[in-house]
Amino acid sequence: MKKHSILVVGGAGYIGSHMVKDLLHAGYDVITLDNLSTGHRELLPGGQFIEGSLNDTALLDSIFSEHRISAVMHFAAYSLVGESVENPLKYYQNNVAGTINLTDSMIRHKVKRFIFSSSAAVYGEPEEVPITENHPLNPTNPYGATKRLVEQVLKDCDSAYDFRYISLRYFNAAGADESGKIGERHEPESHLIPLVLKTATGERDNISIFGTNYPTPDGTCIRDYIHVSDLTRAHLLAFDALLEGSPSDVYNLGNSKGYSVREVIELARKVTGREIPVIESGKRPGDPAILVARSDKIRKALGWAPRYEDLETIIRTAWNWHR
Ligand code: UDP
Repeated sequence: MKKHSILVVGGAGYIGSHMVKDLLHAGYDVITLDNLSTGHRELLPGGQFIEGSLNDTALLDSIFSEHRISAVMHFAAYSLVGESVENPLKYYQNNVAGTINLTDSMIRHKVKRFIFSSSAAVYGEPEEVPITENHPLNPTNPYGATKRLVEQVLKDCDSAYDFRYISLRYFNAAGADESGKIGERHEPESHLIPLVLKTATGERDNISIFGTNYPTPDGTCIRDYIHVSDLTRAHLLAFDALLEGSPSDVYNLGNSKGYSVREVIELARKVTGREIPVIESGKRPGDPAILVARSDKIRKALGWAPRYEDLETIIRTAWNWHR
């Protein structure tokens, strides 16, 4: 039987590179399309690499004409909330217009399975936690708005064309592949766990805690951290489901357990055995106090279960990479 070919858009990024590794390991042919705007060529574990952008519709058409693609997994989005507030058009252009180009080319070439990296940012300030997929979608920043818009585009494409998608709403992706060869690397870095670990290595002098008077037990924000390899496994299950003819759907992806910023720092001290100096600073605009997922839906429908439920283990894998 011929191997399925999967197009991974954004395969040179943090989550995308883990996806490529797991797809190759599972025996798929992988083609990565990445413009290297935030990705790194050296993170790519293998497969075929095409450097290019979603603005290049001729390139998209040539990829779908030349390869028999079974599914597209789409990780290529800008994802910094603050930047999206300052420069929304950059986000709408890449995350929305780029994805429309991609799905348009897919539909014209009869490639009908799409797995989309969505985000908990589609919910905005939660009315209820843990958050279920039925929670209203009220994104509080342009980044979250781009993810909600794409979900709407996908829903309408499903109704109009022979097109099926699974949208995975990630909570806080963290950790690194067990090999220690690939991991999280953003420039500039803005995410909590990598910044805390850079403080542990001495690359940074301290870590700022953004806000200490939130309505949470220790006053700092609570997030649901999910290991990157648990995210990628959900994508493999989503592909299987689409192959078997499952209808389009949307799923949360989190561990259903929240940790405060202070708890993250404390666990990082334990894992690294290093001092991690802290500075208490003001709130970061747009940060909800608590974001924790209910992930029962994907557990039931796709049989997904996290392998890294414990944040200490997640931080250990990230530390292994940072060192
Ligand atoms: N955070 C912090 N200091 C930092 C970076 C992040 O206190 O230097 C907090 C941030 O306010 C949020 C949590 O850590 O409550 C996780 O932030 P991150 O940027 O990692 O992910 P997000 O939740 O924004 O997707």
